[in-house]
Amino acid sequence: MQKKIYKAHILYTKEPGRFEVIENGYVAVGADGRVTGVSADLASLDSEDAEVTDFGDRLLIPAMNDLHVHAPQYRNQGIAMDLELLPWLQQYTFPEEMKFADTGYAERMYRRFVRDLWRFGTMRACVFATIHTESTRLLMRLFQEAGMGALVGKVAMNRNCPPGLMESVDEMVKGYEEVIKESSSLPLSPSTLQPLVRPIVTPRFVPSCTPEMLRACGELAAKFQLPVQSHLSENKDEIAWVQELEPESTSYGDAYDRYGLFGQTPTVMAHCVWTEGEELELMKRRGVVVAHCPTSNFNVASGMAPIRQFLDEGLRVGLGSDISGGHDLSIFRMMVYAIQVSKMHYQQNHERSFLTLSEAFWLATKSAGSFFGRVGSFEPGYEFDALVIDDADLNHDNYSLLQRLERYIYLGDDRQIEHRFCRGKAIECII
Ligand SMILES: [Zn+2]
Repeated sequence: MQKKIYKAHILYTKEPGRFEVIENGYVAVGADGRVTGVSADLASLDSEDAEVTDFGDRLLIPAMNDLHVHAPQYRNQGIAMDLELLPWLQQYTFPEEMKFADTGYAERMYRRFVRDLWRFGTMRACVFATIHTESTRLLMRLFQEAGMGALVGKVAMNRNCPPGLMESVDEMVKGYEEVIKESSSLPLSPSTLQPLVRPIVTPRFVPSCTPEMLRACGELAAKFQLPVQSHLSENKDEIAWVQELEPESTSYGDAYDRYGLFGQTPTVMAHCVWTEGEELELMKRRGVVVAHCPTSNFNVASGMAPIRQFLDEGLRVGLGSDISGGHDLSIFRMMVYAIQVSKMHYQQNHERSFLTLSEAFWLATKSAGSFFGRVGSFEPGYEFDALVIDDADLNHDNYSLLQRLERYIYLGDDRQIEHRFCRGKAIECII
């Protein structure tokens, strides 16, 4: 890839408390897709042999990262919102996921899912697939074809679900080995970077996995040094059920930890609505990342995760759409919901302030991006994942650059995203 320089109004967050804003600035991107410099002054950047692209009055911001989403639930987006978590799984989610035994059906749904992630500017995602190995491999190939980054999880489950969604421990391990082979057969990236598409060990949640299944998942993560994703402390009935199933555990998090699934390798846990006390301390010690999914928590009536408290305590947090518990694939909209949830906490207790826009933006970009490597910022060394926003239709008066970004986050959608980049490469429409 040739060295490139992009000119636009640049906005990003190095730290949660404030935006970096460079009017008519430049970002230089090296041949390996990483940022080599960002400045208001072209002469200060290594511009020799670089191709310069001028995006004029548009905004250039880091691309979005979705830390928790279920690809096979895409058909159910925006429907089936009348139940709480456990009956919702049984009545709506499991029957849909069973259809992914058919790779033809999977391809139709997964293509639409990957295209819509692209549409909304999400260039990296932690994705749950289903138990089905072939469909999971297919989903990995679709991300690879698109040039987008993803950690894709073949889901492990062998209890409390319909027979069509159960696998023996041996079948699960064998399937994972095939998925890992798929990953190593995908085209290699520049040697210093991780492959863009990789597997992630994905026990659905403790109630879906016997102790043997959880143990095998922990062993896979350790053996192949794979990251881990699952669900944690989403709903009070779920937490009580986990305590029944794993009576020796001292918390839901501890039930994962006992099997090597809680930070022994990089781990992201969705929801954490009711995480507190010992579980919170364990997450801190182990560096477990929280995927905050505010719309899902509302829709499935789970509660409101205390994100301000998590940040005060030093936990790493990112945002997740959690389709189809969540109904909205846009991570921009997730920033708005995260701010609104924190304001509801603030209404109840003024001791902790609510999230600011720069904090929400940082959660979605640099904080969430850290789960994929050096992703989510324009600081030198970061992979150039970026969006070019043409907000002319929203910018009908003398708004400042920060106000323009705020209006885009609150009012914009995919129509204003003009260009998308992942690891330095322009990602064009994939379907
Ligand atoms: Zn989920």
